[in-house]
Amino acid sequence: MYDVEKIRADFPILAREVNGQKLTYLDNGASAQKPQVVIDAITQAYSMEYANVHRGLHYLSNLATEKYEAVRGTIARFLGVKNEDEIVFNSGTTEGINLVAYGWAMPRMQAGDEIVLSVMEHHANIVPWHFLRERQGVVLKWVDTEPDGSLDPQKVIDAIGPRTKLVAVTHMSNVLGTVTDIKAIATGAQAAGVPVLVDGSQAAVHMPLHLDSLGVDFYAITGHKIYGPSGSGAIWIRSDRMAEMRPFMGGGDMIREVHKDAVSYADPPMKFEAGTPGIVQTIGFGAALEYVMAVGMKSIAAHEAGLRDYAISRLGGLNWLNVQGQAPGKGAIFSFTMDGAAHAHDISTILDKKGVAVRAGHHCAGPLMDHLGLTATCRASFAMYNTTAEVDKLVEALELAHDLFA
Ligand code: PLP
Repeated sequence: MYDVEKIRADFPILAREVNGQKLTYLDNGASAQKPQVVIDAITQAYSMEYANVHRGLHYLSNLATEKYEAVRGTIARFLGVKNEDEIVFNSGTTEGINLVAYGWAMPRMQAGDEIVLSVMEHHANIVPWHFLRERQGVVLKWVDTEPDGSLDPQKVIDAIGPRTKLVAVTHMSNVLGTVTDIKAIATGAQAAGVPVLVDGSQAAVHMPLHLDSLGVDFYAITGHKIYGPSGSGAIWIRSDRMAEMRPFMGGGDMIREVHKDAVSYADPPMKFEAGTPGIVQTIGFGAALEYVMAVGMKSIAAHEAGLRDYAISRLGGLNWLNVQGQAPGKGAIFSFTMDGAAHAHDISTILDKKGVAVRAGHHCAGPLMDHLGLTATCRASFAMYNTTAEVDKLVEALELAHDLFA
């Protein structure tokens, strides 16, 4: 039985007030709050177990290395992959996708080669490909969402042509909550011999993952959205793709030997991890993943599906609210505008006065905003610790904003 109050008690920040009101934190799509176990892991690492990793022959360095390296196995378990050497640590999804852009795509793409993207990608899964467009003449092929905000996998597959070298799609839209049918896309792309990169930033927070059977090549996740520290993350890269990649950043830790006129590299995944890494961030990320796995990703998904259904019914009752995206099976992410003159930023300011934290803006999804004909929306995004009472609080605050602006 999912005990949301017990879970809430694990997150100290949820007990605080904001603007004299009990905090209702609905900005989880941007970054999630941290459970005490993560805060404790960070404190323990810095106060008792800190040294640089991989380098030392002393006790603390070995201990820090052991704790840090153990997270590779935790991430592999979380993602449902057997080979932990396919996990590259990094600072988050943005870095993971840039690694693939520089390390895999750049050396093998010529002018006129194509990358297929959906229109609902986050800038993290757009701008690295624009670099290739600007610098190498790579063509970006866009697949629109359907009117309900879903992404038709067949349209993605149909966009693949003889010059397509990569399909890069999100597993869950950070704006619409749409969940993409990655398996169907991967099956079609595989048949065409085209690798698939998945932006798993949002999906990894909300659903169990089994990457070994998903059929994709690259899967990027970000730690701070999964209740871990900011500046933590990882990308899973199937070992045959890793073998095709050249390193992206050069420096310490990623080399085997360096001489005046020659250099050789460490074996993957270290080959892709240059310099002193986010040691404590990664240790904290490991604690966060152990925490969600102990609760159970299936249970979290079921709890959030209940929140989503309740929010759909409550928000659906506000006939002046325009919720973007009604794809079947969407996640508990709601972007909306309000009839009348109220700007998303004004709405969010009123909500904040009521202690309700939401996000307002373009949500780093420019092409989607263009497609929707909008410049900004408000976004309420739910997490494992949110409650139906908080949906009510959101609705109450929206009614207040509507009364003020109508
Ligand atoms: N992709 C999606 C779908 C996101 O929502 C985000 C963050 O908002 C990112 C990528 C980028 O993640 P990060 O900033 O942690 O690299």
